[in-house]
Amino acid sequence: MFRSVLIANRGEIARRVMHSAKALGMRTIAVYSEVDADALHVAEADQAYLLGPAPANESYLCGDKILEIAKDAGAECIHPGYGFLSENADFAEACEAAGITFVGPSAEAIRAMGLKDAAKRLMEDAKVPVVPGYHGDHQDAEFLAREAARIGYPVLIKAIAGGGGKGMRRVDDAKDFAKALEGASREGARSFGDGRVLIEKYIEQPRHIEIQVFADSHGNAVHLYERDCSLQRRHQKVVEEAPAPGMTDEVREAMGAAAIAAAQAVDYRGAGTVEFIVDASSGLKADGFYFMEMNTRLQVEHPVTEEITGQDLVEWQFRVAAGEELPADQHELHIEGHAVEVRLYAENPAKKFLPSTGTLHRLKFPNEDGHIRIETGVTEGDEVSVYYDPMIAKIIAWDTTRDRALNRLEAGLHALEVVGVKSNAPFLAKIVTHPAFRNGDLDTGFIEQHLDALVPQDEKPGAVEKALAATALLCHRQGEAEIRAMGSSEPASPWEALDGFRVGGFSEETLKFSGEHGFEVAARYADGEISLLIDGVAHEVEGELSDEGLAAVIDGVHYSAGVLWMANRLVLMHGGRSYDLPLENPLAPVLVDEGNAAGLVAPMPGKIVSVLAGAGDKVRRGQPIIVLEAMKMEHTLSAPSDLKIDQIKVAPGDQVDDGASVVTFLSP
Ligand code: ADP
Ligand code: ADP
Ligand code: MG
Repeated sequence: MFRSVLIANRGEIARRVMHSAKALGMRTIAVYSEVDADALHVAEADQAYLLGPAPANESYLCGDKILEIAKDAGAECIHPGYGFLSENADFAEACEAAGITFVGPSAEAIRAMGLKDAAKRLMEDAKVPVVPGYHGDHQDAEFLAREAARIGYPVLIKAIAGGGGKGMRRVDDAKDFAKALEGASREGARSFGDGRVLIEKYIEQPRHIEIQVFADSHGNAVHLYERDCSLQRRHQKVVEEAPAPGMTDEVREAMGAAAIAAAQAVDYRGAGTVEFIVDASSGLKADGFYFMEMNTRLQVEHPVTEEITGQDLVEWQFRVAAGEELPADQHELHIEGHAVEVRLYAENPAKKFLPSTGTLHRLKFPNEDGHIRIETGVTEGDEVSVYYDPMIAKIIAWDTTRDRALNRLEAGLHALEVVGVKSNAPFLAKIVTHPAFRNGDLDTGFIEQHLDALVPQDEKPGAVEKALAATALLCHRQGEAEIRAMGSSEPASPWEALDGFRVGGFSEETLKFSGEHGFEVAARYADGEISLLIDGVAHEVEGELSDEGLAAVIDGVHYSAGVLWMANRLVLMHGGRSYDLPLENPLAPVLVDEGNAAGLVAPMPGKIVSVLAGAGDKVRRGQPIIVLEAMKMEHTLSAPSDLKIDQIKVAPGDQVDDGASVVTFLSP
């Protein structure tokens, strides 16, 4: 086995690779760009080398620089992760020429699968079913239009060098063909330096099902079953799971055999994925899947396969690269349970999924408890920048059945706390709970089709969130562990009908949260106990703030919420969502005590802090007269209307009882 590895990548994938490398006893060498100097993958590596400025083409894509570092550091192998240089045949070749093992397939295999048209021709020869279409050399627009007509609309035009969903156009009607061709070709030329295209029959109701394959240099090849990646947005994967819902042994065997044949056709070595498009219009069938492309690297979604097979695919990669035989035969592999992965992105689903950049003021993941696995490259305080993929993390759930795994995932998404950037967490939670998805009714059009139901429209806080925010604020100001609930509230108590007038012996305070989702909560104190009036309904609350967040009891029901105090805002995290709530007057009391025209009474037992007016003074409505400290909060008692003070019955330092008369007014 290798004794050292340079990992030519960043973020979660660099950490993932490092994890297995360390378990195999390797010295780990990281590389990083200027903006990644403090990144986790740098801190965790045994050594780390600066590559250059943030843009990938000045850092993570600089193969020459990376090779120089690998030589200097004495790396025996280079693991490219995925993305960046992972499918760069020239880089793989340069590594081998420098005497450093490239952890991946041969440059020839990468090249053979690199262009979609050549790959499809190869697959046809190997008797692997391919999507009907045209994948020849003629690129004349009129010729291609005739081919499209022959294939039959709808068709899909694909840039042969395309990837990541780019350079593709669906065409439903011959009249739109010319324009779509131009678009796909232009995108291919611009993004991949190759404007050539191929044309495929557009499979209606398609599912994306891919097979994980592995081969060694001793002629062994196995597959590690399928992953269903049908849930996509703009041809990019959002949710991935294994096994595929509705998969049968017969279809699995046929797809596995086809994938192995595909790998063997290019003398494949290492980890690869053969992607198939499946016609799901009448269920999964052994003759209803077609080769789309082969990704000659580890996949982003490899964890779901690891979870159901119990294998460490990165360890497999290292073993194969070191010349060992595959760690397992086909018959030694089996599927246990079900795993689902979601990609947590810094993006705003409500704004057309616009990427969101900024500082991760809060980043708290669900506990990794054997059912939940988190793969991330960032930590609280890190920046999500414009330079790289805005993926924050992958959350993977495993359990014995699909339903149970999805329940785990749902709970995990609810426990998630992300503040500082917008995230797609609420969107993911809606997918995971959607009845059609739960039912396994999926195809690649799922997200588009259900978009209205999936994009969280309404992020307004509900009564529970309002109560949690008010309780958090009260706990915070109180600086004390607990607010106890008041005894019981009778249905017809004056409190329920309260609308701004004073109830003898009690005091009311209005807690104001401003901003986009601003709201007010009336809090009432009596005997050191608190209840909240929210949208006309009274709620009894108790609360306790700790480093873990807020633990609250609202009307007898326990809730927990994440709480983050920023300059003058409270960010409340509940149910997988976050509510940004600017405070009108954050730490000073926002007390409005209406009092009555006869006088002011202490709303609760406390100590007089200051007296702001004297006997005989004329006071205006709202003018503060007495400041009382109770429950470690200051409460200002103010004039209920324009009045003249008769008597001030207290002095600073006095201790007063609940309901004690402190000021009297002359009758107007
Ligand atoms: P798949 O190929 O399985 O569909 P992707 O296309 O999303 O999955 O995965 C490859 C892509 O991952 C790359 O093209 C790149 O945009 C992105 N990527 C590359 N490096 C990283 C990284 N370190 N962390 C997250 N994403 C990355
Ligand atoms: P990329 O290299 O960008 O990943 P793929 O060829 O793998 O391109 O296709 C990406 C996605 O586009 C697939 O996962 C699938 O959702 C959709 N797609 C590709 N080919 C077809 C087709 N013939 N019919 C319908 N959908 C397709
Ligand atoms: Mg693909």
